[in-house]
Amino acid sequence: MSPRRIGRRFATLVAGVATVLSLGLANPAPAAAEGVNAVVCYNTSQAGPYAGIADQAAGIWNAYTNNVDMAKCGSNLMIYYTYGGGSYAVRYSLGNGYVVIDVYQAQQYAPLRIMTHEIGHILGLPDNYNGQCHLLMSGGSAGTGCTNPYPYTTEAAQVDRNFGGFGAQGSQVFQDSWPAPVTVG
Ligand SMILES: [Zn+2]
Repeated sequence: MSPRRIGRRFATLVAGVATVLSLGLANPAPAAAEGVNAVVCYNTSQAGPYAGIADQAAGIWNAYTNNVDMAKCGSNLMIYYTYGGGSYAVRYSLGNGYVVIDVYQAQQYAPLRIMTHEIGHILGLPDNYNGQCHLLMSGGSAGTGCTNPYPYTTEAAQVDRNFGGFGAQGSQVFQDSWPAPVTVG
């Protein structure tokens, strides 16, 4: 038998197993799912014009992480907005706290990037003001032209580690603002 035929046969076998598995998991028990993932309930009742942005940001975090689910099921995370003073996050403990979006800042910087960044703090991520746009936690240091709202692989993996092991880092109280642009000289 040629290697190519073996490969094809193996692919067929894998496909068959996958079908059986997916059939078997068609109706997983809700309790089992909750046991795997932490749920961060967020509340947009005070988010004003940023409620939809918060929903988008929650969807991004859900898509990029495995160990945490964001859902509108309570008030672990409140979303607020204000005029001036900067956007920021206050984390009481991992997955608990609030985010404040500065309307003026959100007119300068991409609001979705600000939102996913600040929620990143609630999920246990620190700032990394290195100016690199592919990182979410570089925040405002990447400039107003950076609109990337997605966590980088390493950032998403850190959130999964935070929620996978309920690590000490994430449970520390945290407060910080959206970083100002880097000044040279
Ligand atoms: Zn920050």
